[in-house]
Amino acid sequence: MTVLTSVETYRIAVPLKKPFKTALRTVEAAEAVIVHLATQDGRSGFGEAPPTHVITGDTLDAIEQAIQLIGTGLIGMDLRRRDQLFDKLHKTLVGNTSAKAAVDMALYDLIAQQAGMPLTQFLGGYHEAIETDYTVSVNAPAEMAEDAAVCERAGFTVLKVKVGIDSSENDFSRIQAIRKRVGDKATLRLDANQGWDPKSAVRIINRMEAAGFNIELIEQPVPAHDIEGLKFVTDRTLTPIMADESVFSPVDARRVLEMRAADLINIKLMKAGGIHRAMKINALAESFGVPCMTGSMIETKLGLSAAAHFAASQPNITRFDFDAPLMLKEDLVPGGIQYSGKDIRFSDEPGLGIDAGRFLETLRERRG
Ligand code: MG
Repeated sequence: MTVLTSVETYRIAVPLKKPFKTALRTVEAAEAVIVHLATQDGRSGFGEAPPTHVITGDTLDAIEQAIQLIGTGLIGMDLRRRDQLFDKLHKTLVGNTSAKAAVDMALYDLIAQQAGMPLTQFLGGYHEAIETDYTVSVNAPAEMAEDAAVCERAGFTVLKVKVGIDSSENDFSRIQAIRKRVGDKATLRLDANQGWDPKSAVRIINRMEAAGFNIELIEQPVPAHDIEGLKFVTDRTLTPIMADESVFSPVDARRVLEMRAADLINIKLMKAGGIHRAMKINALAESFGVPCMTGSMIETKLGLSAAAHFAASQPNITRFDFDAPLMLKEDLVPGGIQYSGKDIRFSDEPGLGIDAGRFLETLRERRG
């Protein structure tokens, strides 16, 4: 019998190489709660949850307490009864999607280990390897153009450009400066992080279309709650529009899909509450002919391993925004996915492929 026997949490903080700036926040370090689930037969499963207050509402203390509450309820349960575990996980408390995602990742890590397969194969195994974009933080146009050029030189072919922090006029200048600097080759996707209102979004997008900036897609142009506004933008522009902060749950996804309010959905484990719900959102989107991207918050390679194993498993997930670990000054996570520039590969190790002994040693040292 593979029964869950314990849950423990650790806190970590890893500084970023350069501050990460969006319309919603500036981040200088990746903070997270790490969860470790152990089983009767001596296996370890790991998960991670960062406190992204401005998006999920989750703080470090709240995440830690929610993980303890959920984890304690799962002790004694059998990993082979997968849907019982996830049912319990989601019914223990409402909200708290980051804590749920951390526990969900650790459970999937264990379930795939028990099945003897890498998690991505266990979930579907569609893509053998994937490529990530790289984010250009929102700053003055000249600095963004320089950052974009650095990314391009480092081999990234898809740049995700953050906009929406001040006026849409300035955003036009930002993209103009970047296009001028990197030329036509790079794929540019923009993320306004809710920073525009519907009418100015239509105006700026139409202007960029007329200027021939060739933008691949625009993420979350308007505030998260404004689904009618999102549809207003989608209906009046040719550039594909992606819902991010507007879609946390499968219920949110169904509303956006039924209204045809967006052309694409960005699924993140921290919004969905983990892989179990992320699979449901993706299946719904697929049934509407809407492809998905998978992204992350500012997370370490642990959270990104779970996200990448999920994303690579599904044919409907066609875009990958997995650059967060590349922004960190150090990598605390032994094993997991392997980065080589923009390329992400998976090992043949079962589950998430984390070296449990070494990782626990690091976590305990840091706890002091
Ligand atoms: Mg986004």
